[in-house]
Amino acid sequence: MGAVNLNNIVKRFGTFTAVEKTSMDIPEGSFTTLLGPSGCGKTTTLRMIAGLLDPTEGEIIINGKRVNDVPIHKRNLGLVFQNYALFPHKTVAENVAFGLRYRNVAKSEIARRVKEALELVQLPHLGNRYPKALSGGQQQRIALARAIVIEPDVLLLDEPLSALDANLREDMRVELKNIQARIGVTTVFVTHDQSEALAMSDQIVVMSNGRVEQVGAPQEVYNTPASEFVARFLGASNILDGRCLSRGGEGAVLEVPVFGQITVPSAKAPHLAGEGAAKLVIRAEKLLLRDSPPEGGAFSAPATVETVDYQGQSVRYFVRAGDMQLQAINMIDDRPFPAGAQVHMTLRPQDCAALPG
Ligand code: ADP
Ligand code: MG
Repeated sequence: MGAVNLNNIVKRFGTFTAVEKTSMDIPEGSFTTLLGPSGCGKTTTLRMIAGLLDPTEGEIIINGKRVNDVPIHKRNLGLVFQNYALFPHKTVAENVAFGLRYRNVAKSEIARRVKEALELVQLPHLGNRYPKALSGGQQQRIALARAIVIEPDVLLLDEPLSALDANLREDMRVELKNIQARIGVTTVFVTHDQSEALAMSDQIVVMSNGRVEQVGAPQEVYNTPASEFVARFLGASNILDGRCLSRGGEGAVLEVPVFGQITVPSAKAPHLAGEGAAKLVIRAEKLLLRDSPPEGGAFSAPATVETVDYQGQSVRYFVRAGDMQLQAINMIDDRPFPAGAQVHMTLRPQDCAALPG
């Protein structure tokens, strides 16, 4: 089992910098996800951990040992990529056995471990088939079995679910997470899909443009984004440009368009140092539309519904308040508001987050 640490890693391709001074700690046994848009450097980072690419600068530590000069086959890693890359002319059992043969494990031991790995991915009866006779989901499970059968220190997964169709993808993410939890292997998972990252991870590393934007548990990065990028990339957000008037024990007092003065609790403003430009982040699902203004402490402002996007159990509205358009995703308790309806947007300050402007 192994923790992974990256210390000030840089990767340049010619003059282009794909990964800039990146550090991260991946705790032993954790399911850590590198999340970010296409091209932000996730695969490059994973390939450096794997030993498929050399970092231009910085150190890669696995199990407390610097591995920069350790070749891939000596790092004891399990790898799974988007396109399963099974050997087409080998049976499923031979595919899974590959890493064990390579390590000169005894035949009887190989048979036992292949059987175990196929049971773990719930395909115990497919050992004699060839990959082309399997569905995409089955091939991906075999690729996973092949990666874990060697009992790797670290499992590296690069968008392993993205070639699967939507329903299967959701089933597989639960299954993959369960398998990881059962064997407890340190896992680094790469995805651009925020819901996948939120559902599966112990820790999310949000990346943008070759840099780490934020590291935290799913709820932490979702509820307390460290930057506007994180707020926008994870979920639908309204971001209002305003000012921080004061920052005290009970919170940060912000002056923002539409809602006026609002006091955001300190816990939701950890990145805001003091007075000056500030942004208020309001998640679309925390902006509730009502017929009438709320009683008591909630904040409220009138608005007009512009568009209604019916989504089954919820509705996504775009509403206008003065020259601002805001987005609200509300559960449907009755009938959705129609376009043109006059509504009251309400929100609780503790459901907002504040960022430096
Ligand atoms: P991601 O996996 O997040 O989509 P990558 O790590 O694959 O992103 O790529 C990061 C950036 O590095 C991209 O701009 C990509 O074009 C560039 N890049 C990746 N590999 C190479 C390479 N071998 N040569 C030149 N540029 C590369
Ligand atoms: Mg990639």
